[in-house]
Amino acid sequence: MHYYGDSILRTTATPVSDIDDDLKALAAAMIVTMRHENGVGLAATQIGRTQKIAIIDPTGGEADPYILINPEIVYVSPETMIEDEGCLSVPTIWQPVKRHKCVSVKARDLDGREYTIENADGRLARAIQHEVDHLNGILFIDRLSPMQRRLINGKLKKLAKSGGEEK
Ligand SMILES: [Zn+2]
Repeated sequence: MHYYGDSILRTTATPVSDIDDDLKALAAAMIVTMRHENGVGLAATQIGRTQKIAIIDPTGGEADPYILINPEIVYVSPETMIEDEGCLSVPTIWQPVKRHKCVSVKARDLDGREYTIENADGRLARAIQHEVDHLNGILFIDRLSPMQRRLINGKLKKLAKSGGEEK
């Protein structure tokens, strides 16, 4: 896992052109890592890779995760929702974050098939927005108000000091 302070988390991921064995192995490794860390989702940059792929499992291990290759959010609802959010790469910090209540996302699966998750809401909608942000080098803490940001500044500095390399 790569942590806050590591520049790879600020990298914009590169769109995947070939779904080859390397990408399949990456997806498998991401699933293992996400399950091990009890995460709801994971983006490739969080384990030090730059391919545009994220996985999401809003069920916490009850179902196969969504594999999102080259995901693109194609619809966002005007309604928003504020809920606590955290990130495996920003441990110990949980803060309320405003997100669109519903989103639709278009992506490819490991067979190269294009699919769309239509009108995802709740935890899934939040996870989609969080992971697509990752693939654009954006972290949830970037979406906090200046006041929230001030509150967690000390913790972030500590994280950045200990982060920046694989733990
Ligand atoms: Zn995250």
